[in-house]
Amino acid sequence: MPKEKEWSSSKSAALYGLERWGAPYFSINQLGHICVQPSGSKANCLDLLDLIKDLEGRNLELPLLIRFDDILEERLERLHTAFEKAISKYSYKGTYQGVFPVKCNQQRHVVEELVTCGRKWHFGLEVGSKAELLIALSLINDPEALLICNGYKDQRYIETAILARQLGKRPIVVIEQPDEVERIIIASRELGAAPLIGIRTKLASRSIGRWRNSVGATAKFGLSIPDILSSIDALREAKLLKELRLLHFHIGSQIHDIAVLKDALQEAGQTYVALKDLGAPMGYLDVGGGLGIDYDGSRTATSASTNYSLQNYANDVVATIKECCEPHSIKMPILVSESGRALSSHFSVLIFNVLGTESVPDAIPKIKSDESLIVSNLRETLLGIEKIQKCSNSDHSKLQEAWNDAIKFKNDALSAFRLGYLSLTERALAESLTWACAKALIKILPDSELASEELKTLRHTLANTYYANLSVFRSLPDTWAIEQLFPIMPIHRLNEEPQQLGHFADLTCDSDGKLSKFIDNGHVKPLLELHKLNGNDPYLIGIFLGGAYQEVMGNLHNLFGSTNAVHIRLTPNCGYQIDHVVKGDTNSDVLEAMEHDPEQLLERLRIASEEAIQNRTLKIKDARRLMDHVETSLRQSTYLQQ
Ligand SMILES: *Cc1c(COP(=O)(O)O)cnc(C)c1O
Repeated sequence: MPKEKEWSSSKSAALYGLERWGAPYFSINQLGHICVQPSGSKANCLDLLDLIKDLEGRNLELPLLIRFDDILEERLERLHTAFEKAISKYSYKGTYQGVFPVKCNQQRHVVEELVTCGRKWHFGLEVGSKAELLIALSLINDPEALLICNGYKDQRYIETAILARQLGKRPIVVIEQPDEVERIIIASRELGAAPLIGIRTKLASRSIGRWRNSVGATAKFGLSIPDILSSIDALREAKLLKELRLLHFHIGSQIHDIAVLKDALQEAGQTYVALKDLGAPMGYLDVGGGLGIDYDGSRTATSASTNYSLQNYANDVVATIKECCEPHSIKMPILVSESGRALSSHFSVLIFNVLGTESVPDAIPKIKSDESLIVSNLRETLLGIEKIQKCSNSDHSKLQEAWNDAIKFKNDALSAFRLGYLSLTERALAESLTWACAKALIKILPDSELASEELKTLRHTLANTYYANLSVFRSLPDTWAIEQLFPIMPIHRLNEEPQQLGHFADLTCDSDGKLSKFIDNGHVKPLLELHKLNGNDPYLIGIFLGGAYQEVMGNLHNLFGSTNAVHIRLTPNCGYQIDHVVKGDTNSDVLEAMEHDPEQLLERLRIASEEAIQNRTLKIKDARRLMDHVETSLRQSTYLQQ
């Protein structure tokens, strides 16, 4: 990064891509702090750093998950507005009626919020398991809101859905496996009542990205065309065809190329028309999930981005389905989408503090009189590199040559040490000098292709490690499991130039517990620009767009539990109120999750302390101190305290 005297928050915004992925919800204020503005207007915004200080004052310690319910509501509004605009633009004779796929975020406060503020659009829920069905059954109280029942279904699941219809809800049992048809028929006969029925089609259109296997012959869910036809026959025979109302497809999450969606829409649209022809009443076409998020703000068809906007998506759905229906003069269906990621990513912000940093030592050791040949060879190599540095038109192949020498001498030093010819002190000298060579090299190393891969990775090796008070396995599992990228940046000091390059290591004792892939406008970079720590001052990092999937997929690796979470709502004049506080797991909670009994643990320690007191190896006051620490730890969060 070129050094410039004047740094500004707008340079920070450009560097971290904030306006590309964060607009309109996040910006930087005059103090260089990130501001949250749910309505997109700076007139009502909240300084994230001030908020964290307030929350810490209330004993809500970092790491903290902050859910901005206003943003969730805004996303819902935005989704509906996009479909309304598209419907009016194409004079579509039908409506849009969305559902939230509960698997995206099952937290009660989140689902409740969506159901409550979605009521004006009869917004519903999509479930994929019995437990999720129970959530939806208890929360939906709008007779017009859809309750889409997906996933594997046993008899009880299906009967529950049928009975829910009699309760006044609108469940649609989607046939996802051929054998479910028989089960629906049996359940209906048993209860003397029928469910509303949907069919999921296994599209042949191509898909792309990580979830591309959601389509095609080997997809886990959905019926092939022959299976659909035999299901129709079976339903007709059982006099249930009149309940077939919905056609569903889902081509995978985070569709990054809109062309893929268009193909799928055409195939599904034609299938819908054919089902009507076969005598099913139909009425709903459900385009599933997949509406993507532009995590890196690059607007490209790459996995961390999308080459379309929400409006483009809605336009394509509406226009394509209209084109399919019009020539056949059939009634245009109510359009349903199951957009989870697109609704629930933006509203959560995870904040963690940096506990410290580590980097390769800087000091060049002083020359001693009796240095061995290996050490003085390394010194000469270092001098050589510094010389290249001084002449501006340096030949870059010389850099590689110098580095090859340094590595050779370092390996010589190691061999000599192993054979007993080099002392520990001399080995230390050799190591320090090798690092000094590396540091001198990267100062002059061109960023261009001229440098070899080996030299380029040097920069990575020499970068700073920032220790994060966080477990990626608990809070950001997708970064580990599927290498997903989330925007990550400091939430303050943004008026200052970040002069270091670093990556994050988390609290777990697992070398995979790290964050070392960062968004880079359509690319991925291994290091992030970060600030030098100011003594003991807090350095706070925000992870954005993580509201979908991360919480429930997170695990208890090393027994790091859930973080504290708060629901914040803005009030006029940049104020806020806390709607809910969800306390994170305590050490006691995570121990119990593994079947340990905290009481028994305490009792065993008490007995051991008594014995040690008897044996005079432990003083009474120290025994008490130990018990205090254990008792307090059991009550506290699993993360490090400041
Ligand atoms: C997971 C899933 C969704 C949600 O997908 P997003 O990409 O998060 O919108 C919707 N429908 C079905 C059937 C799913 O399995």
